[in-house]
Amino acid sequence: MAPDGPPITRPISCKQCGATPAASVQIRSHLGLLLWMRCKAVDGPFCSHCGIALIRVMTTKTLWQGWWGPLSLLATLFALHSNLDAYRDLRRLPRSAPPSARARSGMGKPVHRRPPAYVALIPLCCAIWLLTSLIGSAS
Ligand SMILES: [Zn+2]
Repeated sequence: MAPDGPPITRPISCKQCGATPAASVQIRSHLGLLLWMRCKAVDGPFCSHCGIALIRVMTTKTLWQGWWGPLSLLATLFALHSNLDAYRDLRRLPRSAPPSARARSGMGKPVHRRPPAYVALIPLCCAIWLLTSLIGSAS
C-alpha cells in the first residue's frame, strides 16, 4: 500500500563519495588530434569537493590537448565553458564531509597552478598573430 501525502524527496548524493548535498553537473574534456577528436563527458551528481577536483583534472587536459585539430577550436571552447558553468554550480554548494569513513583524495592544484594548462597559450598566441597579420595586410 502506497503512503499518502507528498512524495519524500531525498537530497542527491555524490556519486564518488556519497556526501550531500551534490549537484547534477556534467564535466567535459576534449582531445583534439589532427584528423579526429574525442570528447568525454562525466555525469554527476558530485559534491563540491569531488566535482571541483574532477573539473581541475579535465580542464587542464582540455587546455593542453584540446586545440590540436582544425575542428577542435569550437569543441574546446564548449568544453571549457561547460566546465566553468559546472564549477559555478559546485561552488554554490556548502562544503561537506563524506558520510562515512570513506576517504576522499585531495582536490589537487587549481588549474592556473598546473603547467600543462599554459600550453593553451600557444594556439592563443598563434590566433592573435594571425589576426594581427590579417588586419595589417588589409590596411
Ligand atoms: Zn564527493
